[in-house]
Amino acid sequence: MTHYTDQQWKAYIQGDELDRASMDTHLLECDACMDIYLIVVEDLHELLPEITNITAFSEGVLQHIKSLPTYSTKHSQPMTHRRWYTNMFFHYTIAASLTILLVGSGIFDQIFDRVSEISENTEQAQRATVSDQLTNKAGQWLDSIPAKQVKKEGKP
Ligand SMILES: [Zn+2]
Repeated sequence: MTHYTDQQWKAYIQGDELDRASMDTHLLECDACMDIYLIVVEDLHELLPEITNITAFSEGVLQHIKSLPTYSTKHSQPMTHRRWYTNMFFHYTIAASLTILLVGSGIFDQIFDRVSEISENTEQAQRATVSDQLTNKAGQWLDSIPAKQVKKEGKP
């Protein structure tokens, strides 16, 4: 099996490679080249074009997912190496697309703000609950004191 270089994968990602069909197939079958490909994707991440129209991008991804072939679950076949990698590649693509989408739309910033807000509120709620419990315990203890003393004093 002839492998491709990282320069060829770089060209493939940037759309400059002419031998795309063979590389598509090779990527699904070769672990070594998949590793190189993922590293090059990471390196090129910041150079990839920015998404200007997020709605159109989301629609495009959804259309692409809808057009993928569906596998019948009735005739379940053992998962071959190739299908496993196809799935992994598919999931990586979706995850990468969603990450770009979320980072581009600033949703991560909103999520982090919301998470810190929630954790602050939770801490306050827990503190309130603990102090309520302590107050109740103290109240019960204080209530029990006169009753015991009355019992003692009331004994003949
Ligand atoms: Zn290879």
